[in-house]
Amino acid sequence: MRWLILLTVTSGALTTLSLAEACAQVDYKAGVAKAIITPEPGLWLAGYAGRNKPAEGKANDLYAKVLALEDSQGTRLVLVTLDVIGLPRELSEEMYQDIRHKTHLPRAAVVFACSHTHCSPVIYGNLSDMYPLPPDQPEKLKKYREFLRQTVVRLVSDALADLKPAHLSYGEGMARFAINRRQHTERGVIIGQNPQGPVDHSVPVLRVASPDGKLRAIAFGYACHNTTLDFYQYCGDYAGFAQDYLEEKYPGAVALFWTGCGGDANPHPRRSLELAQKHGRELADAVAATLSQNLTPLRGHFRAAYSTISLPLDKLPSIEELQAQALSKTYAEQARAKRLLKQLETQGKLDDHYPHYPVQVWRLGDDLRWIMLGGEVLVDYALRFKKDYGPQRTWVMGYANDVMAYIPSVRVLKEGGYEADSSMIYYGFPAKWSPLIEDLIVREVHALMKQLDKD
Ligand SMILES: [Zn+2]
Repeated sequence: MRWLILLTVTSGALTTLSLAEACAQVDYKAGVAKAIITPEPGLWLAGYAGRNKPAEGKANDLYAKVLALEDSQGTRLVLVTLDVIGLPRELSEEMYQDIRHKTHLPRAAVVFACSHTHCSPVIYGNLSDMYPLPPDQPEKLKKYREFLRQTVVRLVSDALADLKPAHLSYGEGMARFAINRRQHTERGVIIGQNPQGPVDHSVPVLRVASPDGKLRAIAFGYACHNTTLDFYQYCGDYAGFAQDYLEEKYPGAVALFWTGCGGDANPHPRRSLELAQKHGRELADAVAATLSQNLTPLRGHFRAAYSTISLPLDKLPSIEELQAQALSKTYAEQARAKRLLKQLETQGKLDDHYPHYPVQVWRLGDDLRWIMLGGEVLVDYALRFKKDYGPQRTWVMGYANDVMAYIPSVRVLKEGGYEADSSMIYYGFPAKWSPLIEDLIVREVHALMKQLDKD
């Protein structure tokens, strides 16, 4: 009871714990680490095909951050958050192998989460056919990729070395600036605004505090593209500003952002620095409001599972179709067609599956489930899993471990549009996904969850 009394006499920067929360605490530990990953000006910026020059400066810094958690049995989980567009599988595998070498953590215990900010440098190997890169860029981008790998591996060690007794609790707020962007028109589905379309406005929050009540970390999510901005400055977009505001408000705490199933959501309105800051403020306020409520304490042990599944593609293009696309005036379409024609020549066939789709699930104690999926996952998946496992205690992350493509639902694959069809060009796939993928992903999540429930 000693620190309960302490809490009553110190307020201010401290967030209050309910009596129930205070009594239910079990022996968790937490450690944090962070580093700036903003490069020097001059790297090509990710996310938009239309950019025609490299970054000229920065509006705020990009970060890599790590939250390490440990339960009373010594089971550890590591959340890595990055203000980058997305990681190719090869890079997160390299990072994990280095981490495993140093820490012996199993693959399921480590997740790499990306904010998908479109004002971060190209991660070499991701969205390979999107960018018309000038000849000096590949070497610079490979160097940045290596810097990122080494930084993340070091931060994971630092966060594990920082493990100290901690109280963990969670809750959920709401922010309303995300809008479904799949606008239905006579010409089909375009990227615009669809206020009637499904969207996930929830703001899941994990609070990490030291036994004296001082906030040490806040991990929070939101399901929306970080695309307020499309300028030539490095910037974390709304998620970067939300993290900055929270770290200002709670000195000494590390704020970590992860992206939900925001593949079909954009911030609204957008396209100015002021709007990115305004959305960041709204999100930070939603997190702060959640922290000021009675959060639910975590109880019980950690469990984690990870697997990769093979996802099938739809009908592959013919050689004639590829030859026609190789003459396209669109850079990405031409680049992809030429690469695929070469593949046909050397391998004799095109890949009709993506063999490494990552599915990861964590149980944080007895109540909270965290599903982490690769790719730019569309909102239908989050809504479905929240129905299956219960809202408020089911979190669904997209852009985790490997951002290889959009991950549309069957509904969206039928409707068509960027997330279903044309985005596959930028990601270098020969065809869109088969409608079977939704069921395959959902079944794998259920299977892994069942496995954790048995443990
Ligand atoms: Zn995207």
